[in-house]
Amino acid sequence: MLEEEIQERYGELLAQGKLMEAMEQMREAGLIGEGNMLPDNIREIFRNAQNAIWNRRSSDEEQTEKAADELDPDHPLARTIRQQEALRVHMQNKADLYNRSQGYLNETDGIDCPLCRNRGYTEEIRFSGYYCSVLVQCKCMKQRRSWQRIRKSGLEENIRRQTFDSFKVESSWQERIRQRAEQYVQDRSAGWFYIGGAVGCGKTHICTAICGELLKRNMSVRYMCWPSESVRLKRQVNEEEYESGIREYKECDVLYIDDFFKVGRARDAVKPSDADLKLAYQIVNARYLARKRTIVSSEWLVDELMAFDEATASRIYEMSKGYTLQVARDKGKNYRYLDR
Ligand SMILES: [Zn+2]
Repeated sequence: MLEEEIQERYGELLAQGKLMEAMEQMREAGLIGEGNMLPDNIREIFRNAQNAIWNRRSSDEEQTEKAADELDPDHPLARTIRQQEALRVHMQNKADLYNRSQGYLNETDGIDCPLCRNRGYTEEIRFSGYYCSVLVQCKCMKQRRSWQRIRKSGLEENIRRQTFDSFKVESSWQERIRQRAEQYVQDRSAGWFYIGGAVGCGKTHICTAICGELLKRNMSVRYMCWPSESVRLKRQVNEEEYESGIREYKECDVLYIDDFFKVGRARDAVKPSDADLKLAYQIVNARYLARKRTIVSSEWLVDELMAFDEATASRIYEMSKGYTLQVARDKGKNYRYLDR
């Protein structure tokens, strides 16, 4: 799109200082890609908009000066206006200086944000009876934290390796799994994604690829390795720790539960305990009520989940309509793809 067209379409938002909104709309219109990098011309447009706001500020200051001048200079109100204004200008200058400075968060997480210049925060002057400066967190911080968590969870390396492109397609059922997963990522109104069944059919790979794509779309993704996390959470003796431990899993934008209801070692399929069922229900139900995206991989088929706990399984089943994939192993040791 030509620069003039961009100006025509988004100029008003930019002039109003609604940079975030403009950026989101551009992303929606496909002008900004799925990654974190901005095209050069768009980066320039944001930079100009930011500068225009700063320039306008100084002309606003002149206006207020004038208003005070028009009053009798000895009028107490004129003095108050001048004092207040002087204070505001001083604080605003300091804030502008900070807001113009360059941050370096992008060097560790690769996310480049022109709004906060990679500082993560912007300083703003607010008035509530007196002027004060506040540090406002930039929207990019949500994504940065998400990356940090992914890094901590050990999923980072996998996200780079396990993509849709690297997903092995040797037969038609694998092709259908990949297609469906790609569709899921594109589908904005999609609910949950469930892939269950045979060990070693690429469940973790396909779910990791989905997470990687959603991260690129600025969603914050939380990874939960069920076998280890469920054990850790169940060990929390007091209720308070337990609650705060699962809160993040209940509330994050996107949750990926890997190896759901896997208990014990791989080959001995042990049924989940009552404590497992309770934990699963709490997380699943909270996300079900809040309609938050959840991606689940499990060795169990949905029917088997139903037998463990209908309340949990039926919520998963309902939410992953259209995206419930199951891979069963038949007697000939061939994979069989079940769909619904
Ligand atoms: Zn930012």
